[in-house]
Amino acid sequence: MNIPSAISIRDLRKTYAGVKGEPGKEALKGVSFDVPQGQIFGLLGPNGAGKSTLINILAGLVVKTGGSAEIWGFDIDEHRRNASRSIGIVPQEIVFDPFFTPYEVLENQAGFYGIAKQLRRSEDLLAAVRLSDKRDAYARTLSGGMKRRLLVAKAMVHSPPILVLDEPTAGVDVELRRQLWELVKRLNDDGVTVVLTTHYLEEAEQLCDRIAIINHGECIANKPTRELIEMAREKIVSVTLDKDLATPPRHDAFAKVEQTAARSVEVTYDKDRLTAGQVLAILQDQGLVVQDVTTREADLEDVFVQLTGSG
Ligand code: ADP
Ligand code: MG
Repeated sequence: MNIPSAISIRDLRKTYAGVKGEPGKEALKGVSFDVPQGQIFGLLGPNGAGKSTLINILAGLVVKTGGSAEIWGFDIDEHRRNASRSIGIVPQEIVFDPFFTPYEVLENQAGFYGIAKQLRRSEDLLAAVRLSDKRDAYARTLSGGMKRRLLVAKAMVHSPPILVLDEPTAGVDVELRRQLWELVKRLNDDGVTVVLTTHYLEEAEQLCDRIAIINHGECIANKPTRELIEMAREKIVSVTLDKDLATPPRHDAFAKVEQTAARSVEVTYDKDRLTAGQVLAILQDQGLVVQDVTTREADLEDVFVQLTGSG
């Protein structure tokens, strides 16, 4: 179960300098995680969490304040060139020179990496992102979705083993999102390790083998997607009793019991094992008189909200 790491981040820190005496912004507060090779890894977090800062450090666009990062085994400080050659990054912002055609965009990028003409694969890449028919159109005439796909092709020009997409589907319509997911899956099937940042839970849940959650510059979860969803298997019953409790009730079938007030307890249970009715029956068997009940079902969103503490 020890998959080698495509990316390895240790105690990564970034504080943006404050302008004119204002305090600096601590965007990353010591983040550590590993991206296993061959996986689709989701970096999930609300806006302002620090996702782009982290990606931009890997891209060499932002200078970290502390910690270290390795890309495909290359330290980003000591082996910047090899690190950069091992990763393709699709930035959050779409930026193109509007007067280049998709073919020229890819050829220019190949030139930037010093790839010999006969080794270039611009036509193949255009085909892979379904843009062959737009080969000679000006970039400014492409739709938003086509531009995103072109950016993916551009990031893959030097055939890196890792592709990083920063919020690829923010503000993108359903159909395009589906197309992008398909493209990401196809690349991953071909062996490319994919990292994508998103604030869409559903997207992360459907695409990713593993999800790390980042909030206020801290990594607060990092688990296989299945395990995160397991956390959402839980259901919660809140009950109010007729008198104060000396000790919270206990039962082997309960996942967790929390006394929330003198007469209130919250019982967390696995919905595959128990029903709310059975929970109440267990409480009554223990001699407790239930006066009021509310139930709540946890989903991945709940897990996310619980972890991030955001409403
Ligand atoms: P995310 O991509 O998760 O939305 P960012 O990494 O863009 O988060 O931002 C993290 C925090 O750092 C935010 O509070 C943001 O305002 C701040 N930040 C980002 N870029 C800069 C910058 N160039 N200068 C100062 N603060 C920045
Ligand atoms: Mg961002």
